[in-house]
Amino acid sequence: MTDKIQRTFCRVCEPACGLVATVRDDRLIALAPDREHPVSRGFVCNKGIYGLDIHNDPDRLTHPLKRTAAGEFVPVSWDEALGDIAARLKALIEKHGTGAVASYTGNPTAFNALYGPSFGSFMRQLGARKFFSSGTQDCSNKFAGSEAVFGTRTLHPLPDIDRSDYILIIGENPAVSHMSFMSLPNPMEHLKAAVARGARVIYVNPRRIESASIAGEVVPIRPDTDVYLLAGMLHEIDRTTGFDAESVRRHGRNLDDLRRFLADYPIERVARVTAIPAEQIRALAHEFATASSACAHMSTGVNMGRQGTLAYWLLHMLVFLTGNLGRAGGNFYSQGFYARSTASGRGAPEEFLETPFGQIRKPGGVGISLPGTLMADYITLQDDPIRALFVNSGNPVLSIAGEERMRAALDGLDLLVCVDIYRNATAEYADYILPA
Ligand code: SF4
Repeated sequence: MTDKIQRTFCRVCEPACGLVATVRDDRLIALAPDREHPVSRGFVCNKGIYGLDIHNDPDRLTHPLKRTAAGEFVPVSWDEALGDIAARLKALIEKHGTGAVASYTGNPTAFNALYGPSFGSFMRQLGARKFFSSGTQDCSNKFAGSEAVFGTRTLHPLPDIDRSDYILIIGENPAVSHMSFMSLPNPMEHLKAAVARGARVIYVNPRRIESASIAGEVVPIRPDTDVYLLAGMLHEIDRTTGFDAESVRRHGRNLDDLRRFLADYPIERVARVTAIPAEQIRALAHEFATASSACAHMSTGVNMGRQGTLAYWLLHMLVFLTGNLGRAGGNFYSQGFYARSTASGRGAPEEFLETPFGQIRKPGGVGISLPGTLMADYITLQDDPIRALFVNSGNPVLSIAGEERMRAALDGLDLLVCVDIYRNATAEYADYILPA
């Protein structure tokens, strides 16, 4: 019996950590960290290593399930499932038009290179226009913020942690969440090394987070006031050390407008809102502006707040106006991972839809979906409601606020198709559950 060794990678989050799979008789029997992987270098977290248990879990979906008239799920063939779904979809579109079809996309699809082109193409062929995603709950602000500053949704300058002297991390806990939107398999190792070589690592967070017990220190802040801190720091830097003249000369626009905005956020006022002492904010501003290199990153804690887009915009300004954009130890300025793709939204016109819920950004491309919190309302609209919904690797019943409303809405659909590796709370309302 010969074991086959196969190099592979974890699909759960950004770093795509390297794994080595052992396959015997077409069965996966072992999964180990790939110590020769050039990026992850033998690191995998529990989620990666437990891929073996998930793969061999008898509860994992391995064949399509169809809901019977009695409400039970029974296994059916792919041909039967796809044939029936196609026929019902066709009938719904013929009767109600393409507005009757919608999709909800969950987070795991973000790490599947084929998902976007294939499912996007499927929906476009149908003529469907209603796209929802979990991203509107936790990261749409980043796409909108980068589009406003850089003209593309996919450019997110990443902190150059390994060379930075000052690392500002707002609203995230890297020891637990690995830092989103960047591929750093084991961020705490890098942050520990940064502290060991004398860099400051500052977490702005309402909690005493686990990361600070490994490396760095927490500046406690009143929840959801990060935008005031960023505005206050910029106000103070402009007033004291000044903005980086070369950055402003080469790339700055509308600085007077920014200054007019910042004028409302002197440090004493910001201190009252954020509950961070004025002296501490002053020190943060001074240290960030005068460090030989400084970088900044923010994540879910700010993204999900009331002013996530403005906070991200101000974070970009903080990095740019201190001369740290594109500087070693600052934030990397890449050309965006879809530099030549229209999917990046680079230069795409900002189109808005008039909807029963007000003006909403037209969905499409990377990062722009209809708000997930409105999905139940779209399903129950009087005029042009959603009647057929595809849910891919998502669980909106549990992840979108208003569970009861969502359950009632899903229950009223004519066709619900869920694609996932397990049955979940949303799939209990499905007509078909397809294995991912
Ligand atoms: S950090 Fe964990 S979940 Fe993310 S890719 Fe690596 S092993 Fe997978």
